[in-house]
Amino acid sequence: MSNIYDVIVIGTGPGGYHAAIRAAQLGKKVLAVEAEYVGGVCLNVGCIPTKALLHAAEELEGIRHGAEFGLEVKDAKVDTKKLGGWRDGIVKKLTGGVSQLLKGNKIDLKTGFARFVDKNTIEVEGERFQGRAIIVATGSEPNTLPGFEVDQKNIVDSTGALRVEEQFPKRLLCIGGGAIGLEFAQVYKRLGAEVTVIEFMGQILPAADPETAGLLAKILGKQGITIRTQTKGVKVEKKKDGLHVTLEDLKTATQETIVVDKILVATGRRPRGKGLGLEAIGVVVDERGYIPTNEKMETNVPGIYAIGDVTRPPLLAHKAMKEGLTAAENAAGGNAVMDYQIPNVVYTSPEWAAVGMTEEEAAKAGYKVKVGKFPLAASGRAMTLGATEGLIKLIGDAETDLLLGAHMVGPSASDLIAEMALALEMGATVTDVGLTVHAHPTLSEGIMEAAEHLHRQAIHIANR
Ligand SMILES: Cc1cc2nc3c(=O)[nH]c(=O)nc-3n(C[C@H](O)[C@H](O)[C@H](O)COP(=O)(O)OP(=O)(O)OC[C@H]3O[C@@H](n4cnc5c(N)ncnc54)[C@H](O)[C@@H]3O)c2cc1C
Repeated sequence: MSNIYDVIVIGTGPGGYHAAIRAAQLGKKVLAVEAEYVGGVCLNVGCIPTKALLHAAEELEGIRHGAEFGLEVKDAKVDTKKLGGWRDGIVKKLTGGVSQLLKGNKIDLKTGFARFVDKNTIEVEGERFQGRAIIVATGSEPNTLPGFEVDQKNIVDSTGALRVEEQFPKRLLCIGGGAIGLEFAQVYKRLGAEVTVIEFMGQILPAADPETAGLLAKILGKQGITIRTQTKGVKVEKKKDGLHVTLEDLKTATQETIVVDKILVATGRRPRGKGLGLEAIGVVVDERGYIPTNEKMETNVPGIYAIGDVTRPPLLAHKAMKEGLTAAENAAGGNAVMDYQIPNVVYTSPEWAAVGMTEEEAAKAGYKVKVGKFPLAASGRAMTLGATEGLIKLIGDAETDLLLGAHMVGPSASDLIAEMALALEMGATVTDVGLTVHAHPTLSEGIMEAAEHLHRQAIHIANR
């Protein structure tokens, strides 16, 4: 193979493989470089394996609660080895699928760590490759927490926490009440551990709408997960009976010790923008390791693009994918711009999902905020699912009736939020949402009713 390409993509996570495939579709000769695993974090140690574990844990919980409607199953238990095998099988199938897609699109794949030599040249394992455009999609890695050094045994990061088949703890401490901490908290709780989550900020999911985040915290609490906000981990000591962790309550400035068997450090992720030689060729990499880009995903150096976790938050797969398509189209001579209407989901059960603005953000942006809400306790469909805990909340502008945001807790919120993302993309008003006929009985009706409630005309709840 000649070493000259139209487009070189560094990293084959969601951002990278989307960019590579789109560039190939546009007729470009493409090289993808991958240092560790095709499919990146999302497919190998992120979205996919966590969702598999959450599904198994939810099924187990469903069996345990079936007695409410007459399904009596004795001694439901989990074989974590088999569960691990199922998880790995899904990952293998999907990552194999990405490799096939790359091949099918005639994309060359080079294994190894890429570094920049100059603006059009990278070096991988001593070999040089030239690209007219180069797209950096190197992703992110777990943040470290001083005093809680990860050994993937007693103290794990999300990758270690996936391995539920190894040393399953009786007591788990999750440091960090973000999506990753909460999802693992529920998996471990349902598989049999006693779980505590500590969060430094005043609420779990610190950037989320406080009402829906608070509701999720309350429901997870009822499920037996201990959640402590404004609490930080200070230090850990390994003793015979377990890990003695000193916690500090930031409200009262008091300390106490809890004893656990395993600690998950889930305090966020940091971008992998450093160590690629970008700075030496004049590409700006900020002090945290993010690579700033314009809305075309181009860095300050023309012809070098950056996408995904390495550019800016939110660190989400679908954001990386869309940025990948945008960068590829521009690298192929197009004129695409990135649109940051990004839905956000936590896959606990019930799920949490949001898109658009919170009340606070809308008020700050100068809108006259009006809120409509529909509790799932009033949903016939939720009752038939035995899952009535949840809320659908819409934010609108009282003056123009424009829909500004949607925030939900409930089953299938991850799928329901897509309707709200489309509504925002289409510039829908709250009236448009309320006028749309939703099938009955479905959870999606809650969206229609929340829109009607915003105008104080909902049918199945009092319009206070
Ligand atoms: C436990 C967990 C659960 C998650 N769940 C979800 C979820 O449900 N939904 C969601 O939207 N997001 C989720 N995420 C986030 C999601 O995984 C990331 O946002 C997404 O993977 C980012 O994609 P990316 O292409 O930017 O980078 P990555 O997926 O990080 O891929 C980057 C790739 O680049 C390679 N690489 C790095 N440097 C080099 C180099 N110099 N040369 C060659 N290759 C290199 C890496 O090996 C890696 O394969 C989760 C993350 C974690 C950790």
